[in-house]
Amino acid sequence: MNEKLYFDYAATTPLDPDVFSAMEPYLKGDFGNPSSIHYFGQRAEHAVEKSREIVADYLNCHPTEVIFTSCGSESNNLALRGTAMARKSQSGHNRITSSKVEHHAITHTIQQLSDHFGFKSDWAAVDEFGIVDLTSFSTMLNENTALASFMLANNEIGSINPIKALAEMCLNKGVPFHTDAVQAAGYIPIDLAELPVSLLSLGSHKFYGPKGVGVLFIRQGTKVLPTQTGGGQEFGLRSGTHNVAYIVGFAAAIEKLKKFREKRATELSILRDELIDRVLKTIPDSKLTGHPTNRLPNHASFIFKNVDGNLLLGMLDQAGFACSSGSACKTGNPEPSEVLIEIGQPRDWALGSLRLTLGSKTNEEAINKLLEKLPALIKLNRELKG
Ligand SMILES: *Cc1c(COP(=O)(O)O)cnc(C)c1O
Repeated sequence: MNEKLYFDYAATTPLDPDVFSAMEPYLKGDFGNPSSIHYFGQRAEHAVEKSREIVADYLNCHPTEVIFTSCGSESNNLALRGTAMARKSQSGHNRITSSKVEHHAITHTIQQLSDHFGFKSDWAAVDEFGIVDLTSFSTMLNENTALASFMLANNEIGSINPIKALAEMCLNKGVPFHTDAVQAAGYIPIDLAELPVSLLSLGSHKFYGPKGVGVLFIRQGTKVLPTQTGGGQEFGLRSGTHNVAYIVGFAAAIEKLKKFREKRATELSILRDELIDRVLKTIPDSKLTGHPTNRLPNHASFIFKNVDGNLLLGMLDQAGFACSSGSACKTGNPEPSEVLIEIGQPRDWALGSLRLTLGSKTNEEAINKLLEKLPALIKLNRELKG
Protein backbone atom coordinates (compact mmCIF):
# COMPACT_ATOMS: atom_id res chain seq x y z
CA MET A 1 0.00 0.00 0.00
CA ASN A 2 1.53 3.29 -1.12
CA GLU A 3 -1.12 5.77 -0.14
CA LYS A 4 -0.54 7.25 3.31
CA LEU A 5 -3.43 8.51 5.34
CA TYR A 6 -2.77 11.09 8.03
CA PHE A 7 -4.58 10.84 11.37
CA ASP A 8 -2.22 12.95 13.46
CA TYR A 9 -3.44 16.54 13.09
CA ALA A 10 -2.96 17.10 16.84
CA ALA A 11 0.79 16.60 16.36
CA THR A 12 0.95 19.05 13.48
CA THR A 13 -0.94 20.11 10.38
CA PRO A 14 0.22 20.67 6.80
CA LEU A 15 1.03 24.26 5.84
CA ASP A 16 -1.92 25.90 4.06
CA PRO A 17 -0.81 26.90 0.52
CA ASP A 18 -2.28 30.40 1.01
CA VAL A 19 -0.24 30.76 4.18
CA PHE A 20 2.87 29.77 2.28
CA SER A 21 2.09 32.36 -0.42
CA ALA A 22 1.76 35.06 2.24
CA MET A 23 5.11 34.08 3.75
CA GLU A 24 7.05 33.69 0.51
CA PRO A 25 7.93 37.36 -0.18
CA TYR A 26 9.58 37.58 3.26
CA LEU A 27 11.73 34.56 2.54
CA LYS A 28 12.85 36.11 -0.74
CA GLY A 29 13.24 39.84 -1.50
CA ASP A 30 11.79 41.36 1.65
CA PHE A 31 14.57 40.49 4.02
CA GLY A 32 14.80 43.57 6.24
CA ASN A 33 15.23 43.60 10.02
CA PRO A 34 12.14 45.20 11.61
CA SER A 35 14.42 47.03 14.06
CA SER A 36 16.29 48.84 11.27
CA ILE A 37 15.41 52.47 10.53
CA HIS A 38 15.70 52.32 6.73
CA TYR A 39 13.32 51.33 3.95
CA PHE A 40 14.01 47.59 4.26
CA GLY A 41 13.51 47.67 8.00
CA GLN A 42 10.30 49.63 7.70
CA ARG A 43 8.80 47.15 5.27
CA ALA A 44 9.57 44.30 7.67
CA GLU A 45 8.29 46.24 10.66
CA HIS A 46 5.08 47.00 8.82
CA ALA A 47 4.60 43.28 8.09
CA VAL A 48 5.13 42.36 11.76
CA GLU A 49 2.80 45.06 13.07
CA LYS A 50 0.12 44.23 10.50
CA SER A 51 0.35 40.59 11.63
CA ARG A 52 0.05 41.62 15.26
CA GLU A 53 -3.12 43.55 14.44
CA ILE A 54 -4.63 40.57 12.65
CA VAL A 55 -3.96 38.30 15.65
CA ALA A 56 -5.25 40.90 18.13
CA ASP A 57 -8.38 41.43 16.08
CA TYR A 58 -9.09 37.69 16.04
CA LEU A 59 -8.50 37.31 19.78
CA ASN A 60 -10.34 40.55 20.58
CA CYS A 61 -7.46 42.12 22.48
CA HIS A 62 -5.07 45.03 21.98
CA PRO A 63 -2.10 44.57 19.60
CA THR A 64 0.36 45.47 22.37
CA GLU A 65 -0.89 42.40 24.26
CA VAL A 66 0.32 40.05 21.49
CA ILE A 67 3.91 38.79 21.83
CA PHE A 68 5.44 36.72 19.03
CA THR A 69 7.57 33.77 20.17
CA SER A 70 9.20 30.79 18.48
CA CYS A 71 6.55 28.17 19.34
CA GLY A 72 3.80 27.14 21.71
CA SER A 73 6.33 25.66 24.09
CA GLU A 74 8.19 28.95 24.30
CA SER A 75 4.94 30.81 24.93
CA ASN A 76 4.19 28.43 27.81
CA ASN A 77 7.71 28.85 29.18
CA LEU A 78 7.59 32.64 29.01
CA ALA A 79 4.15 32.66 30.62
CA LEU A 80 5.16 30.43 33.52
CA ARG A 81 8.76 31.50 34.12
CA GLY A 82 8.14 35.17 33.39
CA THR A 83 5.09 35.47 35.62
CA ALA A 84 6.45 33.25 38.40
CA MET A 85 9.72 35.21 38.57
CA ALA A 86 7.94 38.58 38.48
CA ARG A 87 5.54 37.55 41.26
CA LYS A 88 8.29 36.11 43.42
CA SER A 89 10.63 39.06 43.11
CA GLN A 90 7.82 41.56 43.57
CA SER A 91 5.80 40.05 46.39
CA GLY A 92 7.32 36.71 47.38
CA HIS A 93 4.52 34.57 45.94
CA ASN A 94 6.04 31.15 45.34
CA ARG A 95 3.33 28.59 44.62
CA ILE A 96 2.27 27.47 41.15
CA THR A 97 -0.99 25.63 40.58
CA SER A 98 -1.61 23.42 37.60
CA SER A 99 -2.55 19.82 36.81
CA LYS A 100 -0.76 16.61 35.91
CA VAL A 101 -2.52 16.32 32.55
CA GLU A 102 -0.93 19.43 31.06
CA HIS A 103 1.53 19.40 28.14
CA HIS A 104 5.16 18.79 29.17
CA ALA A 105 5.95 22.41 28.27
CA ILE A 106 3.90 23.20 31.39
CA THR A 107 4.58 20.29 33.76
CA HIS A 108 8.33 20.09 33.12
CA THR A 109 8.67 23.86 33.45
CA ILE A 110 6.87 23.84 36.80
CA GLN A 111 8.96 20.86 37.87
CA GLN A 112 12.16 22.75 37.15
CA LEU A 113 10.90 25.92 38.84
CA SER A 114 10.20 23.89 41.96
CA ASP A 115 13.37 21.76 41.83
CA HIS A 116 15.79 24.63 41.26
CA PHE A 117 14.19 28.05 41.70
CA GLY A 118 12.43 27.92 45.03
CA PHE A 119 8.85 27.48 43.85
CA LYS A 120 6.29 24.98 45.15
CA SER A 121 3.80 23.19 42.98
CA ASP A 122 0.16 22.44 43.77
CA TRP A 123 -1.43 19.89 41.44
CA ALA A 124 -5.19 20.22 41.25
CA ALA A 125 -7.23 17.04 40.88
CA VAL A 126 -8.84 16.19 37.55
CA ASP A 127 -11.86 13.97 36.95
CA GLU A 128 -11.93 10.72 34.97
CA PHE A 129 -11.99 12.76 31.74
CA GLY A 130 -9.00 14.92 32.68
CA ILE A 131 -11.14 17.98 33.39
CA VAL A 132 -9.98 20.15 36.29
CA ASP A 133 -11.98 19.77 39.49
CA LEU A 134 -13.07 23.29 40.45
CA THR A 135 -13.41 22.45 44.14
CA SER A 136 -9.96 20.91 44.31
CA PHE A 137 -8.57 23.96 42.54
CA SER A 138 -10.28 26.44 44.85
CA THR A 139 -8.74 24.81 47.93
CA MET A 140 -5.29 25.29 46.41
CA LEU A 141 -5.57 28.98 45.71
CA ASN A 142 -4.05 30.85 48.61
CA GLU A 143 -2.14 33.98 49.54
CA ASN A 144 1.10 32.46 48.25
CA THR A 145 -0.15 31.47 44.80
CA ALA A 146 2.08 33.11 42.18
CA LEU A 147 0.03 31.87 39.23
CA ALA A 148 -2.22 29.12 37.94
CA SER A 149 -2.09 27.42 34.55
CA PHE A 150 -4.61 25.07 32.93
CA MET A 151 -4.94 24.08 29.30
CA LEU A 152 -8.00 25.02 27.27
CA ALA A 153 -8.17 21.61 25.60
CA ASN A 154 -6.09 18.52 26.19
CA ASN A 155 -3.82 17.45 23.32
CA GLU A 156 -3.78 13.81 24.38
CA ILE A 157 -7.41 13.07 25.29
CA GLY A 158 -9.24 16.04 23.78
CA SER A 159 -11.21 17.16 26.87
CA ILE A 160 -12.09 20.83 27.24
CA ASN A 161 -11.59 22.60 30.58
CA PRO A 162 -13.99 25.16 32.10
CA ILE A 163 -11.42 27.90 31.50
CA LYS A 164 -13.75 30.82 32.07
CA ALA A 165 -14.74 29.55 35.53
CA LEU A 166 -11.12 28.82 36.44
CA ALA A 167 -9.96 32.22 35.21
CA GLU A 168 -12.73 33.99 37.15
CA MET A 169 -11.73 32.25 40.36
CA CYS A 170 -8.18 33.54 39.87
CA LEU A 171 -9.34 37.00 38.91
CA ASN A 172 -11.31 37.23 42.16
CA LYS A 173 -8.17 36.37 44.13
CA GLY A 174 -5.86 38.58 42.09
CA VAL A 175 -3.87 35.57 40.88
CA PRO A 176 -2.53 35.63 37.28
CA PHE A 177 -4.06 32.86 35.20
CA HIS A 178 -2.48 31.28 32.13
CA THR A 179 -4.09 28.93 29.64
CA ASP A 180 -2.32 26.77 27.07
CA ALA A 181 -4.65 27.10 24.08
CA VAL A 182 -2.19 25.62 21.58
CA GLN A 183 -4.27 22.54 20.80
CA ALA A 184 -7.64 24.25 21.16
CA ALA A 185 -7.23 27.35 19.02
CA GLY A 186 -7.90 25.64 15.70
CA TYR A 187 -11.37 24.64 16.88
CA ILE A 188 -12.57 26.72 19.81
CA PRO A 189 -13.38 30.43 19.49
CA ILE A 190 -11.33 32.67 21.77
CA ASP A 191 -12.66 36.07 22.81
CA LEU A 192 -10.32 37.72 25.27
CA ALA A 193 -12.82 40.46 26.08
CA GLU A 194 -15.04 37.70 27.50
CA LEU A 195 -12.42 35.29 28.82
CA PRO A 196 -10.64 36.83 31.82
CA VAL A 197 -7.30 35.04 31.43
CA SER A 198 -4.07 36.96 32.07
CA LEU A 199 -2.00 34.93 29.60
CA LEU A 200 -2.76 32.59 26.70
CA SER A 201 -0.45 30.53 24.47
CA LEU A 202 -0.84 29.72 20.79
CA GLY A 203 1.24 27.98 18.13
CA SER A 204 0.39 28.21 14.43
CA HIS A 205 1.44 24.75 13.26
CA LYS A 206 -1.59 23.21 14.96
CA PHE A 207 -3.86 25.22 12.62
CA TYR A 208 -2.18 25.02 9.20
CA GLY A 209 0.42 27.71 9.87
CA PRO A 210 4.20 27.26 9.95
CA LYS A 211 6.06 25.41 12.69
CA GLY A 212 8.46 27.51 14.75
CA VAL A 213 6.27 30.50 15.57
CA GLY A 214 3.97 31.11 18.51
CA VAL A 215 2.09 33.84 20.31
CA LEU A 216 1.76 34.66 23.96
CA PHE A 217 -1.13 36.96 24.84
CA ILE A 218 -0.23 38.98 27.93
CA ARG A 219 -3.09 41.05 29.28
CA GLN A 220 -2.21 44.66 29.98
CA GLY A 221 -1.11 45.03 33.60
CA THR A 222 0.17 41.46 33.98
CA LYS A 223 3.73 41.53 35.29
CA VAL A 224 6.08 39.29 33.32
CA LEU A 225 9.88 39.24 33.44
CA PRO A 226 11.47 38.46 30.08
CA THR A 227 13.22 35.09 29.98
CA GLN A 228 15.16 36.06 26.87
CA THR A 229 16.90 39.41 27.15
CA GLY A 230 18.78 41.39 24.55
CA GLY A 231 17.71 43.99 22.00
CA GLY A 232 14.34 44.51 23.62
CA GLN A 233 12.07 43.37 20.79
CA GLU A 234 8.44 42.51 21.52
CA PHE A 235 7.99 45.30 24.10
CA GLY A 236 11.10 44.09 25.90
CA LEU A 237 9.50 40.73 26.62
CA ARG A 238 11.12 38.58 23.96
CA SER A 239 14.40 39.76 22.53
CA GLY A 240 15.73 38.45 19.23
CA THR A 241 15.35 39.59 15.64
CA HIS A 242 11.81 38.87 14.48
CA ASN A 243 11.19 35.84 12.31
CA VAL A 244 9.26 38.02 9.89
CA ALA A 245 8.13 35.39 7.38
CA TYR A 246 6.86 33.08 10.11
CA ILE A 247 5.08 35.87 11.95
CA VAL A 248 3.36 36.78 8.68
CA GLY A 249 2.53 33.08 8.32
CA PHE A 250 1.03 33.01 11.80
CA ALA A 251 -1.29 35.89 10.89
CA ALA A 252 -2.19 34.30 7.54
CA ALA A 253 -3.15 31.10 9.37
CA ILE A 254 -5.31 33.18 11.71
CA GLU A 255 -7.04 34.76 8.69
CA LYS A 256 -7.89 31.23 7.55
CA LEU A 257 -9.25 30.35 10.98
CA LYS A 258 -11.56 33.35 10.78
CA LYS A 259 -13.07 31.93 7.63
CA PHE A 260 -13.01 28.19 8.18
CA ARG A 261 -12.72 27.32 11.87
CA GLU A 262 -16.39 26.97 12.59
CA LYS A 263 -17.24 25.08 9.42
CA ARG A 264 -14.32 22.72 9.84
CA ALA A 265 -15.18 22.04 13.46
CA THR A 266 -18.77 21.15 12.55
CA GLU A 267 -17.77 18.88 9.68
CA LEU A 268 -15.04 17.10 11.58
CA SER A 269 -17.19 16.50 14.63
CA ILE A 270 -19.54 14.39 12.50
CA LEU A 271 -16.66 12.25 11.24
CA ARG A 272 -15.20 12.06 14.75
CA ASP A 273 -18.47 10.79 16.22
CA GLU A 274 -18.75 8.16 13.53
CA LEU A 275 -15.16 7.09 14.10
CA ILE A 276 -15.60 6.83 17.86
CA ASP A 277 -18.79 4.90 17.45
CA ARG A 278 -17.34 2.39 15.02
CA VAL A 279 -14.13 1.80 16.97
CA LEU A 280 -16.01 1.11 20.19
CA LYS A 281 -18.47 -1.18 18.38
CA THR A 282 -15.97 -3.20 16.34
CA ILE A 283 -13.12 -3.60 18.81
CA PRO A 284 -13.56 -5.62 21.99
CA ASP A 285 -12.07 -4.26 25.21
CA SER A 286 -11.87 -0.71 23.86
CA LYS A 287 -12.58 2.53 25.71
CA LEU A 288 -12.77 6.18 24.73
CA THR A 289 -10.42 8.42 26.74
CA GLY A 290 -11.40 11.99 27.54
CA HIS A 291 -14.88 13.40 27.71
CA PRO A 292 -17.45 11.81 25.34
CA THR A 293 -18.97 15.13 24.22
CA ASN A 294 -17.06 18.00 25.83
CA ARG A 295 -14.03 17.37 23.63
CA LEU A 296 -12.21 18.79 20.59
CA PRO A 297 -14.28 18.24 17.43
CA ASN A 298 -11.43 16.56 15.55
CA HIS A 299 -10.18 14.40 18.39
CA ALA A 300 -10.75 10.69 19.06
CA SER A 301 -8.58 8.90 21.60
CA PHE A 302 -8.80 5.33 22.80
CA ILE A 303 -7.25 2.71 24.99
CA PHE A 304 -7.33 -1.00 24.28
CA LYS A 305 -6.77 -3.61 26.94
CA ASN A 306 -3.67 -5.79 26.50
CA VAL A 307 -2.40 -4.04 23.42
CA ASP A 308 1.17 -2.86 22.86
CA GLY A 309 0.55 0.75 21.80
CA ASN A 310 3.97 1.31 20.25
CA LEU A 311 3.71 -1.90 18.25
CA LEU A 312 0.24 -0.87 17.12
CA LEU A 313 1.55 2.46 15.81
CA GLY A 314 4.20 0.59 13.81
CA MET A 315 1.64 -1.83 12.40
CA LEU A 316 -0.66 1.03 11.45
CA ASP A 317 2.20 2.91 9.83
CA GLN A 318 3.10 -0.18 7.77
CA ALA A 319 -0.51 -0.37 6.66
CA GLY A 320 -0.41 3.30 5.58
CA PHE A 321 -2.00 5.05 8.55
CA ALA A 322 -0.09 7.77 10.44
CA CYS A 323 -1.44 7.78 14.00
CA SER A 324 -0.23 8.59 17.49
CA SER A 325 -0.40 7.14 20.96
CA GLY A 326 -1.23 10.64 22.17
CA SER A 327 1.88 11.01 24.28
CA ALA A 328 5.51 11.20 23.33
CA CYS A 329 6.39 7.80 24.77
CA LYS A 330 9.75 6.41 23.87
CA THR A 331 9.97 3.17 21.95
CA GLY A 332 11.98 0.52 23.71
CA ASN A 333 11.08 1.87 27.13
CA PRO A 334 7.31 1.87 27.11
CA GLU A 335 5.91 3.70 30.09
CA PRO A 336 2.20 4.42 30.18
CA SER A 337 1.23 8.03 29.59
CA GLU A 338 1.17 10.19 32.73
CA VAL A 339 -2.13 11.65 31.57
CA LEU A 340 -3.82 8.24 31.34
CA ILE A 341 -2.48 7.22 34.74
CA GLU A 342 -3.64 10.53 36.22
CA ILE A 343 -7.20 9.92 34.97
CA GLY A 344 -7.13 6.53 36.67
CA GLN A 345 -6.57 4.09 33.83
CA PRO A 346 -4.87 0.83 34.78
CA ARG A 347 -1.48 0.07 33.26
CA ASP A 348 -2.67 -2.83 31.06
CA TRP A 349 -5.09 -0.43 29.37
CA ALA A 350 -2.95 2.71 29.41
CA LEU A 351 -0.13 0.99 27.48
CA GLY A 352 -2.51 0.41 24.57
CA SER A 353 -3.41 3.98 23.67
CA LEU A 354 -4.26 5.31 20.23
CA ARG A 355 -5.02 8.91 19.29
CA LEU A 356 -6.73 9.60 15.96
CA THR A 357 -7.00 13.28 15.12
CA LEU A 358 -8.76 14.52 12.01
CA GLY A 359 -8.23 17.52 9.78
CA SER A 360 -8.38 19.14 6.36
CA LYS A 361 -7.83 15.98 4.33
CA THR A 362 -9.86 13.55 6.44
CA ASN A 363 -13.01 12.25 4.80
CA GLU A 364 -15.46 9.38 5.05
CA GLU A 365 -13.34 7.25 2.76
CA ALA A 366 -10.23 7.66 4.91
CA ILE A 367 -12.21 6.61 7.97
CA ASN A 368 -13.62 3.60 6.13
CA LYS A 369 -10.14 2.50 5.10
CA LEU A 370 -8.85 2.80 8.64
CA LEU A 371 -11.82 0.90 10.06
CA GLU A 372 -11.29 -1.86 7.50
CA LYS A 373 -7.86 -2.56 9.00
CA LEU A 374 -7.88 -1.49 12.63
CA PRO A 375 -9.86 -4.32 14.26
CA ALA A 376 -7.68 -7.02 12.64
CA LEU A 377 -4.47 -5.19 13.54
CA ILE A 378 -5.54 -4.99 17.17
CA LYS A 379 -6.42 -8.66 17.19
CA LEU A 380 -3.01 -9.53 15.72
CA ASN A 381 -1.32 -7.19 18.18
CA ARG A 382 -2.96 -9.01 21.08
CA GLU A 383 -1.90 -12.38 19.69
CA LEU A 384 1.70 -11.23 19.20
CA LYS A 385 1.78 -9.78 22.66
CA GLY A 386 0.42 -13.03 24.09
C1 LIG B 1 1.61 21.20 20.46
C2 LIG B 1 1.33 21.69 21.83
C3 LIG B 1 2.27 22.46 22.53
C4 LIG B 1 3.64 22.77 21.98
O1 LIG B 1 3.60 23.65 20.90
P1 LIG B 1 4.89 23.77 19.94
O2 LIG B 1 4.56 24.91 19.04
O3 LIG B 1 4.97 22.46 19.22
O4 LIG B 1 6.05 24.03 20.81
C5 LIG B 1 1.94 22.91 23.79
N1 LIG B 1 0.75 22.62 24.34
C6 LIG B 1 -0.18 21.90 23.70
C7 LIG B 1 -1.49 21.62 24.37
C8 LIG B 1 0.08 21.39 22.43
O5 LIG B 1 -0.84 20.65 21.81
